[in-house]
Parts: sequence; C-alpha cells; structure tokens
Amino acid sequence: MSLANGRPYLAIPGPSVMPEEVLRAMHRAAPNIYEGDLIEMTASLIPDLRAVARTTQHVAIYIANGHGAWEAALANTLNPGDRVLVSATGRFGHGWAEVAELQGIAVDLMDFGKRAPIDLNRIEDALRADTAHAIKAVLATHVDTSSSVLSDIAGIRAVLDATGHPALLMADCIASLACDRFEMDGWGVDVMVAGSQKGLMVPPGLAFVFFSDKAAEARRALPRVNRYWDWTARANPEMFYQYFGGTAPTHHLYGLRAALDLIMAEGIEEVWARHDTLARAIWAACETWGQTGPLEMNIADPALRSRAVTALRIGAPHGSALRRWVQDNAGVTLGIGLGMAEPNDPAWHGFFRIGHMGHVNAHMVLGALGAIEAGLTALDIPHGTGALAAAARVIAGRTRCVG
Ligand SMILES: *Cc1c(COP(=O)(O)O)cnc(C)c1O
Repeated sequence: MSLANGRPYLAIPGPSVMPEEVLRAMHRAAPNIYEGDLIEMTASLIPDLRAVARTTQHVAIYIANGHGAWEAALANTLNPGDRVLVSATGRFGHGWAEVAELQGIAVDLMDFGKRAPIDLNRIEDALRADTAHAIKAVLATHVDTSSSVLSDIAGIRAVLDATGHPALLMADCIASLACDRFEMDGWGVDVMVAGSQKGLMVPPGLAFVFFSDKAAEARRALPRVNRYWDWTARANPEMFYQYFGGTAPTHHLYGLRAALDLIMAEGIEEVWARHDTLARAIWAACETWGQTGPLEMNIADPALRSRAVTALRIGAPHGSALRRWVQDNAGVTLGIGLGMAEPNDPAWHGFFRIGHMGHVNAHMVLGALGAIEAGLTALDIPHGTGALAAAARVIAGRTRCVG
C-alpha cells in the first residue's frame, strides 16, 4: 500500500508549486499577438514586476531560464576582457562565474565555501586593492539555493560606497525574489536577475533582468550587444514584439499576470512575512530532529538562512533514502542535495533540501514536515522528538523568533 495517492507536493527549490489561478490563466486558446488583450495585459506586468523587485527603474523579460538571465545581465554591461569580482556561496555563484568566463570576462572568484555567507571584509579588501578600478562589476548571489545561505547585498553596496569603487553591483535573486526581503533601489543594486519558476510561481521559461540607470549607461557604452540579449528595446519597446525579441511567451504571460495578482493582493511585505514564519516553522522542526541523530541544518546561524529553501545534512545514505521514502509513501518530493558532494561520491546521498518558496502555506509546510517525520521513523533514522509540535508552535505564534 502507498499513501502517496492524492495531490502530490513538489517541495523542491524550483520549479515551485503553481497556484490554480496560474494554471487556469494559462489554460486558454492561443491569443492574438498583434492586437487586443495580450498587448495591454503585458504592459500591466511591468509596474508589478518593479514593485516586487522594489525598484522604479528598468526591467527586461527574456524567454529563458535563470541561466539566460545570468548571460543577459553580463552581455549588457561588460566587454570581453573586462574584469568582475564574483562571490560564491554555493553552486550558483560558481555557475554565474562560469557563464562570465565563457563570455570572455576575467573572473576574480571569491569562494566562501558551502556553509557561509559573503564575507564583506574580503570584498572590501579586494575593492581597496583595485586602485585602478579594473573591476567593472561585483556579482553576488542573494540566496544560494544549494547551500540555502542568505548574503548581505546591502552590505556590498555599503562596501562599494565606503571604498568609492564604481563597479556595478549585480545580484542573483532567482531563488530569493518574493521570498526573502529584497530592495533593489534601497540597497543600491544595479542589476538583478530572477526567473519565473521560484517565488514567482510560474512555470520555468521567463527570465527577468532588472537594471538601474547606471547599468543602462554601461550598456550604452558598449560597442555592440547581441540582438537577442540586448535589453534596450525589451525594456522600452516601440513595438509589442520587442518586449521579447520575437514572439511573446503568451501563456507564461497570462500565468505571470495571475501570479502577480496574487502577490499584489497579499502585499509583498506580507509575502515576505509568510515565508519568514513558514521558514521558522521548518527550522524549529529541523532543530528538534537534530537534537538526537544525524540531521543538521547546513547553515547554523538562522540570521544567515534563506526563507526560500533549507539545505540539510543527514549523512549517507539517509538523504537519498528519506527523499525516496517521502515521495513513494507520502507524495512529497524533496530537493536533492546540490553541489555538496560529487554525484558519484557515496557522500552525495547524505543531503537533501526542502523548498518553501512561492505558493506555500501552513498546511503544506506542516504536511511536508509530517511526511519527513514519518520517513525518519520508517527508516529508523535517529531523530529528536517533538519536531512537529515545535513547528506548530511557530505557526500558532507561540514561539519567540529563532533568528
Ligand atoms: C534556480 C537558480 C538558478 C538557475 O536558474 P535556472 O532557471 O535553473 O537556469 C540560478 N541561481 C539561483 C540562485 C537559483 O536558485
């Protein structure tokens, strides 16, 4: 007998759960791309995207995933041969650095490992040492989805300002947007990249590049940018097709409209607060499980943890066994451990992640935690007792904040 039949729950850190409203909005006949509703509806997305990113500046939309957004951000601001400082706090920082290198950009990679945020002192030292201002941009991952570490993007702006360094500040918010608080203008971010399939609750396929006036100036100073990646017309189209450099991603746009309606109705601050409480419930459960046995949160300090995803260490083979058990027996799919060990290393089986981004609420989180508890019990993995009660206390508002 399996207890998995019923609505499945994909609790991985993207793609995330899609709201019924999004699915319904996408279930429609092909719309006219030359006139009518789609044209006006698309224009209505722009102010709401800006509101979610907390910016009054520019946004370009691409038919791409996050990797496309990485490429677009660099293609519009840097020449081959330019130098950038890239911080890595997990797999995704390395990924963006690789994209830069393949565009012919010289990368100074600053690796902070898999369990720590960006160290602002090291960024400051590198910027102070760069008296010739060879570094054209500082690239940082707000939330690294592999490690679930949260870095201080505003702190990097403060360091740039304190050192008087003119480099652009670029942030990868693909995991964090609409989950963890992010303030593009308030934090002085020049370029921010995001995707549709995480906090924005839309299927993978749309990428967003938000950019400041200063970044727009950097684009204008470039001798050439490949047509498809050029953000100029996308952010300021004279014709509808220019938003997308070709045919519009029609159904994704309707899905995005529905998702933004949900976010706007809830309010972005409330969206952040919901993610905060749900994350704390998950952390309370994990902390309790970890009191006995091998489970441990990858990021020890709650102040440095993302509210979109939680990375866990449980030792091989428990991570893979637990994922298998909860999927087959409880209908909950957990995330694999990413970048913590090589896939052919037996240690690879010692990690998993819980995605809690986007369309998640208290009953979903409590359900996923209950499924994990059942899995730990079924597999005889030692764990502390009272985890669900601890999570419930957070949901009930009866627990002082853990971070
Ligand atoms: C998911 C993710 C990416 C990659 O996005 P894709 O859509 O898979 O290309 C990059 N950075 C971060 C932080 C992510 O979470």
